[in-house]
Amino acid sequence: MTASTKPRGRLVVISAPSGAGKTSLVRELVHSHPDICFGVSCTTRQKREGEEGGRDYQFISRQEFDRMVVAGEFLEHAQVFDNFYGTPRDQVNTQLDKGKHVILEIDWQGARQVRGAEPSCVSIFIMPPSRSELENRLRQRATDSDDVIARRLQDAVNEMSHWEEFDYLVVNDNFGEALQEVLAIIRGGGERSRSNRAEIRPLITGLLARDS
Ligand code: 5GP
Repeated sequence: MTASTKPRGRLVVISAPSGAGKTSLVRELVHSHPDICFGVSCTTRQKREGEEGGRDYQFISRQEFDRMVVAGEFLEHAQVFDNFYGTPRDQVNTQLDKGKHVILEIDWQGARQVRGAEPSCVSIFIMPPSRSELENRLRQRATDSDDVIARRLQDAVNEMSHWEEFDYLVVNDNFGEALQEVLAIIRGGGERSRSNRAEIRPLITGLLARDS
C-alpha cells in the first residue's frame, strides 16, 4: 500500500497521574512498533537530566508558546502545575496521514480538548495498582519532605478524578500485561479494558480516598 492509500492512523490520548508508569509504557510501545509514534509536545518547562529536545519535548520559551497559541498551531494546550504544554497540530496530522497511530501523552485538560476537536480519537487512562503502591512511587527520594509528597499525592488524585472521561482504563500492575492491553486498544480492540466495567470500582474508590 502506498502512503496515499493507507488508512489514516488512529489518534490515541493517554493520561495518568505521575507514578502510574505511563511514560515507560509509551516508550516501549513506540520502540517496538514502527506503526506507532509519539506526538512530541512543546513545553515551557526546563529540560530535565536525560531529556532530549525534539525527542521528549520541544523546549520552547513562554514567548514562543504564546505565539503558537495565538497562531492556532496547537491541537490542544494547557497549564499543568507551573508550566505550559501544547501539542503541535501539524506534526500530529502529518503522522496520521502517513497511516501511523499517534500517541499523545497529555493531561486530562488536554485530553478533554482533543476529544472535542477530534471525536474519533481513542482515550486511555492508566491507573496505578493501589493507593499504597502509588504513594511508594511518589516517594522518590527519602529526602523529600512530607509536604512535597502530600502535594504530589494531591496532584495525582486530581488527575485520577477525571478517569471517567476516558474510553478505556488500564491498571498498570504488571507492565507486560498493561502493555498488551494498551496495544490491543490502539489496534482497535481492548473491549475488556473499557472504563465503564464494574470490577474496577473498588480500586478507584481506594485510589481516590482523601486519606490513606
Ligand atoms: P512532565 O513535565 O512531568 O513531563 O509532565 C507533566 C504533565 O504534563 C504530565 O501529566 C504530562 O502528561 C502533561 N503533558 C505533557 N505534554 C503535554 C501536552 O502537550 N499537553 C498537555 N495538556 N499536557 C501535557
